[in-house]
Amino acid sequence: MRRLLVATLATVLTLAGTAAPAAAAPAPGGAGLGDEYFPDYGNGGYDVSHYDIRLRYYPDEDRLTGTTTILARAEQDLSSFNLDFILDVASIKVNNRPATFVRQGDHELVVTPARPVTDGQAMTVVVQYSGVPSNKVAAGFTAWIRTPDGALAVGEPEEAWWWFPSNDHPSDKATFDVSVAVPDGVEVISNGVQPRTPTPEILGWTRWYWRSAKPQATYLAFIAIGQYDITRDVTPGGEPVINAYSQRLPGDFDAAARASVERTAEITQWEESVFGPWPFTARGGVVAPPATLSFALENQTRPVYSANFFRAGANTSVIVHENAHQYFGDSVSVAQWKEIWLNEGFASYAEWLWSEEQGEGTADEIFDYLYATESDDFWTVEPGDPTAPRLFDNAVYDRGAMTLHQLRKTVGDDDFFEILRTWTAEHRYGNATTEQFIALSEKISGVQLDDLFQTWLYTPSKPVLASSFARPVAPKSWATIQRTHELLHQH
Ligand SMILES: [Zn+2]
Repeated sequence: MRRLLVATLATVLTLAGTAAPAAAAPAPGGAGLGDEYFPDYGNGGYDVSHYDIRLRYYPDEDRLTGTTTILARAEQDLSSFNLDFILDVASIKVNNRPATFVRQGDHELVVTPARPVTDGQAMTVVVQYSGVPSNKVAAGFTAWIRTPDGALAVGEPEEAWWWFPSNDHPSDKATFDVSVAVPDGVEVISNGVQPRTPTPEILGWTRWYWRSAKPQATYLAFIAIGQYDITRDVTPGGEPVINAYSQRLPGDFDAAARASVERTAEITQWEESVFGPWPFTARGGVVAPPATLSFALENQTRPVYSANFFRAGANTSVIVHENAHQYFGDSVSVAQWKEIWLNEGFASYAEWLWSEEQGEGTADEIFDYLYATESDDFWTVEPGDPTAPRLFDNAVYDRGAMTLHQLRKTVGDDDFFEILRTWTAEHRYGNATTEQFIALSEKISGVQLDDLFQTWLYTPSKPVLASSFARPVAPKSWATIQRTHELLHQH
C-alpha cells in the first residue's frame, strides 16, 4: 500500500514538472574515480571487497590463462560498469548471468550485465581470460616483466591491467586470494600467507596458493614466478616471514641480498617501535633475477627488490624504506596519486631514522647535507603536487623527508613520533590526505603549521631557513641512501 501511494505521488510530482527526485534510470558507472593525475584509473559506481585470482602460467610461452572472481557492491543503479584490464577476455558473468563487454580506450573494459545492478546490491563478477602479457602495451609501455625463468608482475601505479581485471586505484582496497598453477619445480610467490601448501594438479603441474587477508591496493598485489630459493621463519609474535631469492643471483649478489633481506624481521620490529604495531599478518621480501626488475616496490607484506640494490654489498636502507611503506602507502594509502609524498617522503625519512639508529649520521646531518647540496632544479618540484610525469621525482623523496624533519624540529620529538603513530593507527587500512596529516599534526602539537607545509610542500623554490647551514659533508649513511634512491626512482 505504501508503495502504491509513493508511486502515485511520484507520478503526480513528475507530471507537475517539479524537481522531485524520481527514481533515476540505471546509469553507467564511469571510467574513473576522479584522480587528478590519472582520471581514468579506477572506475566509478561500485566498491570491491575481494579478488579471487586463479591463474595458470606457461613460462616457455609467457602465456597466462585464468579466471578472476570479483566480489563487489554497487554504489548506484548500474546499467554498465568498467574494469581496468588489457588481456583477452573470453567471457564475463555478473551475478551468474552472461554479460556483454567491449574495450574502450587504453585499458578500459565496459561490462553490461544482463540486468541492471541496483544501488547497494552485491555483485559477483567472473572474468575468464588469457593472453601473453609481455605483448600488451598500455599507457605507452608494458609493465609485465618476462624473466629468463618466469615472470614478474611488480609496478606502480600501473601493473594490475596485465594480470587481473580490477578497480585499479588505491582508494578501492580489497582482500586477495591468488593461486597460480605452474610446471612442477617452478616457484610462485605473492603477498601474505600460504593458506595451503603447493599441491600437485594435472600431471606435471603444481598449484600455489597465497592470501592477503587485510585490505590491499591493487598496485600492491604481485606475483613472482620462476626459480627461487625460499626461506621461512616465524616472528616472536607468530607471523610467518617468507623470503625468496632468484636462483640466478650471482654468488656475491646472493650473499649481499641475504645479508639484507634476512634482517627483515629485525628491521620491521624496529619499525614497530617507531611507527606502531605491524599492520599485516606476514612479512618478507623477494629478490628478482639480475637484469629484470630495475627498482624495488613495497608490495604488501613482501616487497620485491631489484638485484641491483645488492651489487655493492648489503643494503639495509632499502629494506627499511620498503617496509616503512607497509605503514605509509600500504596500510595508510593515498586517496589521490598527487599525494605520493605521504608514501615516499615518509619511507625516505625512515631511512634517516635508521641511519641515526645505526650511528651512521643523524637526521639533522642528512638534512643539512641535502639543504647545502641539492641542485636548483630539485627545488622547483613541489613534493605535495609534483605533476604526473614527476610522480617519483627526487624531490618527492628527499624534500618530502625534509618536510617531515622540519615538522619534527618544530614540534619536538615527543609530538612528532606521536603524530606518526596516531597517523598509522587512525588511518589503518584506509586512505588519507595531506590535509588530514596537517590537521593531525596541528591537533597533537597545538602549533599552527600551515606555513611550514606550504613552504616545504607547495612552493617551487628553495625554502629560506632562519639559521644558515654550511655542512656539505656527507654523513656516512648517505652513499647507500643515495644509491638506493637512484634505483627507487626507476619506476
Ligand atoms: Zn618508496
